[in-house]
Amino acid sequence: MQQKEYEIRFLTGAQTLYGDEALRQVDAHSQVVVDALNASGRFPVKIVYGGTLKSTDEIESAFLSANDASACVGVILWMHTFSPAKMWIRGLKTLQKPILHLHTQFNAEIPWSEIDMDYMNLNQSAHGDREFGHIMTRLNKSRKVVVGHWNDSEVHDHIAAWSRVCVAWRELNQTRVLRFGDNMNNVAVTDGDKVAAEETFGFRVLYCPVGELAAEVAKVSDGAVAALVSEYEREYEFADDCKSGDGMTQVREAARIEIALREVLERWNAQAFTTNFDDLYGLNQLPGLAAQRLMKDGYGFGAEGDWKTAALVRAMKVAARGLPGGTSFMEDYVYHFKGKGAILQAHMLEVCPSIAKDKPRVEVHPLGIGGKSDPARLVFTASEGSGVAATIVDLGARYRLIVNEVECVAPEDALPKLPVARAFWTPRPDLKTAAAAWIWCGGTHHTSFSSALTREHLEDFAEIAGIEAIFIDSQTKIYDLKRELRWNEAFYGR
Ligand code: MN
Repeated sequence: MQQKEYEIRFLTGAQTLYGDEALRQVDAHSQVVVDALNASGRFPVKIVYGGTLKSTDEIESAFLSANDASACVGVILWMHTFSPAKMWIRGLKTLQKPILHLHTQFNAEIPWSEIDMDYMNLNQSAHGDREFGHIMTRLNKSRKVVVGHWNDSEVHDHIAAWSRVCVAWRELNQTRVLRFGDNMNNVAVTDGDKVAAEETFGFRVLYCPVGELAAEVAKVSDGAVAALVSEYEREYEFADDCKSGDGMTQVREAARIEIALREVLERWNAQAFTTNFDDLYGLNQLPGLAAQRLMKDGYGFGAEGDWKTAALVRAMKVAARGLPGGTSFMEDYVYHFKGKGAILQAHMLEVCPSIAKDKPRVEVHPLGIGGKSDPARLVFTASEGSGVAATIVDLGARYRLIVNEVECVAPEDALPKLPVARAFWTPRPDLKTAAAAWIWCGGTHHTSFSSALTREHLEDFAEIAGIEAIFIDSQTKIYDLKRELRWNEAFYGR
């Protein structure tokens, strides 16, 4: 899918008290910091210096301009010198873009034999940024606070994580999740309030009759199918029984569905979609291979009508663009109660090959539910390494993000009879604690898994969205988690 260019505005706070020469230096220092950030090559956006702000009017004007710039996905604010924070109130009340408060100082170390009052006045973020932090807290502004010298690579890591989430947030606001069929009958956790979702996250949930997809499938030419099957043959291994005969017939049907699905998603300008195995009227098979390949191309996906997970997969894929690792729709399937415990993760078909360790293999097997023909799918095992599994649940009046840090490991043995793509992971701190914590949180069986992102990205996401976030990690203890949930309930309401 087409990728847009974004920017983040870098705005510096000061005041006129110090005189023109000091302000010229503040301005020059700010430009050096911005140039260094851009030169680091760590950000998916250009950081644009928007000037040194010295008055209520200048601040308001800079923020109105940031609001108005469609390419601007966030603002970084730094109080180089003391900037009396009442000046910021009017502007901050208008600012609608995500904020990162960079608490840095131009010079990294104190020059012991040289330091005088001029130096002190040009290196006083220590009190300027505290004044600013006060007003941000008092106005209850959502933001990220990053502390450290601007040339420190850890500081770059934190800014980079946030800037990725700013892009994801921007694109999620514009995402259209297209549903083919409704949520699976009677399932609670995948359902929710689509109006509240649009209010909270900005994405729209639309409905496309599955008949429109079926009609599109009927229009696909045999030539187009043959070309796509050749692409499959170049990209994947094929199971022996899929190289010809009935197996190949089903692979061709899967290719036909993929071509039609891409066409319909483009027609609707959708960046995420859901399917439902119980609502495939007019289709030969559940779109498995198609869902896998569309996810690889950046589409969000949720099975059984799970539009919240489809949107989250999409947001996480945008945040992860260009990073090593992959992001996929996933489902908790089978437990392995041995040692710290582990979970076999899979789905009926729809796991994204971006997380595959080896070349995926095209296979065709019966599905057992849905009453359709045998669907084609890519079978593989996920790479080993750390990742995060995340979900958003609708608690009725609000949303909760739940994140579990996990460690993907190699399955203990071959899985010759398992006909689906899979990951095998140990959730932190261990299976018993993590599963209990997840259940206390009311988490889904579906997740968005990413080996490209870390909890920091999701923490930034929750902060920008203004929703509760619970992290299940190496420190999690069930008693503490239950208290956190109760305290959060007092804060957010039920
Ligand atoms: Mn499912």
